[in-house]
Amino acid sequence: MVNVTKTVPNSWALRCAWALAFFELGLSGFSPLGSSSLGSLGSLPLQILFFIGAFGVYGFGGLIYDAVSQRFGLNHKLFTALPLLAFCYMAFTSASNMLGNLNSFASIAFAVCGFLLALSLLFSSRARRIKSTSITKQAAVLSIVSFALIIYYLMIPRNVTYRQPIADSDAIGPNVVIITWDTIRADVLPLYGGTGLETPVLDALASRSTVFDNMSAVAPITGPSHASILTGVVPPSHGLRSNGTSKISDDIPTAAEIFSAAGYATGGFISAYPVRGDIGFDRGFDVFDDRLPNDRANSLMSIGTQAFTWVRQFKEARRFIEEPSLDGDTLLSRTAEFLDNSQGPFFMWTHFFDAHGKHRPAPAYREKALSLSEGAWPPAVQPEAVGDKMTMYRGEIMELDRMLEEQIAQLEEKDPGLKNTVIFLLSDHGQCFGENGYVISHTPSLTQATQHIPGIIYVPGATTQRAEFAVNQIDVLPTLCALAGLEINSHIQGADLSPIIKDGATSVERDLFKDGFYMEAFQLYLMGGEVQDLIQERKGSISTRKNNQGSKSAWKSREDMRKQGYLGVKWKYVNILNDTEFFYDLKTVDANGQADAEDVQELFPKEFINQRLLFYKMFERIPHAEESALIGSEYDNSMLEQLGYTGGKAQ
Ligand SMILES: [Zn+2]
Repeated sequence: MVNVTKTVPNSWALRCAWALAFFELGLSGFSPLGSSSLGSLGSLPLQILFFIGAFGVYGFGGLIYDAVSQRFGLNHKLFTALPLLAFCYMAFTSASNMLGNLNSFASIAFAVCGFLLALSLLFSSRARRIKSTSITKQAAVLSIVSFALIIYYLMIPRNVTYRQPIADSDAIGPNVVIITWDTIRADVLPLYGGTGLETPVLDALASRSTVFDNMSAVAPITGPSHASILTGVVPPSHGLRSNGTSKISDDIPTAAEIFSAAGYATGGFISAYPVRGDIGFDRGFDVFDDRLPNDRANSLMSIGTQAFTWVRQFKEARRFIEEPSLDGDTLLSRTAEFLDNSQGPFFMWTHFFDAHGKHRPAPAYREKALSLSEGAWPPAVQPEAVGDKMTMYRGEIMELDRMLEEQIAQLEEKDPGLKNTVIFLLSDHGQCFGENGYVISHTPSLTQATQHIPGIIYVPGATTQRAEFAVNQIDVLPTLCALAGLEINSHIQGADLSPIIKDGATSVERDLFKDGFYMEAFQLYLMGGEVQDLIQERKGSISTRKNNQGSKSAWKSREDMRKQGYLGVKWKYVNILNDTEFFYDLKTVDANGQADAEDVQELFPKEFINQRLLFYKMFERIPHAEESALIGSEYDNSMLEQLGYTGGKAQ
């Protein structure tokens, strides 16, 4: 079959290279002709690259090979076999990566089509007769064009589209600022009794504010908990239950939409992938800036990572790059620009990711944290596994404090004395340093280390105080609406805390969550082997399976590890969907300061049963949003993997 001659055929390596390009284009369905989503690639350069990238990049390799073998007269049949072997190897790898995707008649037909085109290029007599000089010239041009396009694409930063942030002339009310510090547990902060770090700026802000001593997170996952902060409802109701797979329900208004409708100028500035715009976080913002480092390389990967050998290299390269988040200083340069340009009252959300993840503070903060680390409280629960990471985490928090100074200065410049600006600073979830076996992670934990978060609200002219009343992330939006004089939408499940903040009330009424707050950890990788198989196969339609609260027994054999919890003042009930239950007494802490180190269901059987009953009663009443599946591209998955959200289970 393979006709290996003594003379290397015309442009043989080039033809092998282009055959690979045809083959891989076929595997990816020749989008947009096929089923994959070239339309979602957005920019024209990216769409062009989809088609010519492979020809250009592989063709370049082929040209070089042909030129070298011609120059040195390499006629041995080995030199003819090598390009063909390279073709076979790469085509096989791409095909095996894509097998799970070839699940429709069209996708199979396109793959066959690509294969036939590849074969004809390799072996048809017509292809052999093409003059080597003309094809070489064309290939050279194509290579130059694609490399230029790739470089252009990687070098020119992505634009964010926005409206001019100008409030309606009749908009009144205070400026409203939400600051979320990602991954900050309350108990490490000096404000909540933590030692081993200094946060003078936060402490000064707190001394002019209401500090909530008992504020909890609704989920230990960045996307879902931020969505709850910005919608005032729990994850089953807003529909974003796991980073990466679903969107905020279109039926649920977001804070920015509400403030924008009230005439506010709105700006959102985020630092990490789980809260990016296309999940729904950009809704209602005049300016939403979710540009992240390596953004362009990342979106380049969205053009069929698994189908194209040349694109897969970007994924490989990213393993050596730091987590894809933005540093707070860059974010602050963006907020400065927004504040300079906005007119009238504004609503602004800033999300800082600096304390998440790898825990590598800048050298000065590392030194400072080390110098303060002796006897720091709270201690790491598993000190050997944690090493110095908890100290480094404290260093990062000190860096956040320095950034807060800059941020307050920016706001002061806009509103001297902050006489007309409300600031709610809180976290999306905390971090575990050995609690319940979770080491330097947070996602599946419903321990207090992740659920007890800081909450500080500055309201001009209001009393300064510590408030003991238990509050939650879902209270943020109704409270801010009330403080801005806006109506609180009836779908909102959180409570308006303004009576506590302004009038010194000790509590407010609650309905759905009067006995405790709902919590959940529904991250994708907790969903059991069956779903993982589906995701691996990339067959889509996982959303229907995620909704099966009623038939959870179907999951038993595959260990659905998703968790739900019910956080009261004294008790905490946690239920894993594989039917394992936990019960904790929050009023008793151990030597590490942990309230939920030990399960007490046998010690308090009556209370346990009672809390479980309350949990189910409450859960039945939570409205469920239709989950809008955002089936992650390969790029999504690898991105989330890097953030620690998919892949292996935590211990
Ligand atoms: Zn987070």
